[in-house]
Amino acid sequence: MVQVEEQYRTSVRLSPLQRIRLLVTGTVPTSRRSRPGWRGSLQFYAFRCPVHGLMENYPQGYGRVLRCPHCDEKAAKNGAQI
Ligand SMILES: [Zn+2]
Repeated sequence: MVQVEEQYRTSVRLSPLQRIRLLVTGTVPTSRRSRPGWRGSLQFYAFRCPVHGLMENYPQGYGRVLRCPHCDEKAAKNGAQI
């Protein structure tokens, strides 16, 4: 769990072009990454969380939605269903 949090703490760095795209579309692809246990790599996206600001994550679930890892964490602690 601690390892995951450490990963999310890294700041998201965007080029000027990426910043513009983020403003226009709300999301912008950043880099492809792999994690332990993953067979391949996944495209990560930067997006803005209304609570935590600029975040980075990969699309999850059938809806391929981008969710803020910190908001997810809070919801999990509260036992809320998403
Ligand atoms: Zn958040």
